[in-house]
Amino acid sequence: MADCVDLHIHSNHSDGLQSPREVVDQALALGLEAISITDHDSISGFEEAVEYNRSQELEVVSGVELSAAKTDEDLHILGYLFNAHHARLLETLERFRTIRVERGRKIVARLADLGLVLPYEDVLEAAGHAAVGRPHVAEAMVKNGLVATYNEAFIRYLIVGGPAYVPKAKLTPLEAITLIHEAGGMAVMAHPGLTACDEMIPELVAGGLDGLEIYHPTHDLAMRKKYRHLARKYRLFMTGGSDSHNRKGRFGDIGEENVPYQYLSDMKTAWHLIDGGKNMMESAP
Ligand code: AMP
Ligand code: FE
Ligand code: FE
Ligand code: ZN
Repeated sequence: MADCVDLHIHSNHSDGLQSPREVVDQALALGLEAISITDHDSISGFEEAVEYNRSQELEVVSGVELSAAKTDEDLHILGYLFNAHHARLLETLERFRTIRVERGRKIVARLADLGLVLPYEDVLEAAGHAAVGRPHVAEAMVKNGLVATYNEAFIRYLIVGGPAYVPKAKLTPLEAITLIHEAGGMAVMAHPGLTACDEMIPELVAGGLDGLEIYHPTHDLAMRKKYRHLARKYRLFMTGGSDSHNRKGRFGDIGEENVPYQYLSDMKTAWHLIDGGKNMMESAP
């Protein structure tokens, strides 16, 4: 996997199953040049990966995945190359994690109304380091024998509009972009093919969007071509990654998208020109 990166990876600091250390070890074993751990509402996994990664062979760049509101569905905005000590960013992430825990309780209450008794401690245990998300509820439901599989939990109960679905607090897309910019980072629209709201791209660009995720396991060749074309049209950076959660059947495995290092170096070059390197983590030279 020469000269490749993976800029979209989840760890067990959100809804992935691998620890940040396991992610780093796997990236090194695969020979990737750079990774970004892009946990939902959290950067502690990124920080652990930086701390652990003493290798000169692998760059670990700052990343996060924020949930912004489309309608009922999410529009995910990825942040890269931000200052991981930025106070307002950290406060905002903390607030969203607190709200997630409350939301987890509401989901469990909905399930109870449906006659499915799930101890909340089991949800917290599934979440471990992470703030509670629907994947942890799904895992706890499997463990308690309420459903046979993780996917069944989503399909029958947890999908948007499902009987135990509870929406979570979200930023507007423009708030998400602005927050990432304030922290000195670049804002990228995650998996636009999956999100399916191309009509919003012009207003996001007007609001400062910096990039589009081109490589993603849910993107077919036609989508990749379309979003490359849109990125050129709007002068956006192109990014990509596996969106690995290390869960079977859910997106890709680390490294499998073969994203060229050039994508990251284009962003870093522009970023240095804008910022003069002031906000750069030492791990992202
Ligand atoms: P949350 O942020 O708590 O709403 O959970 C969203 C996460 O749930 C996503 O990032 C996925 O990891 C997972 N997810 C969402 N929809 C599905 C689905 N239909 N099947 C399996 N996992 C899903
Ligand atoms: Fe996820
Ligand atoms: Fe996403
Ligand atoms: Zn993701």
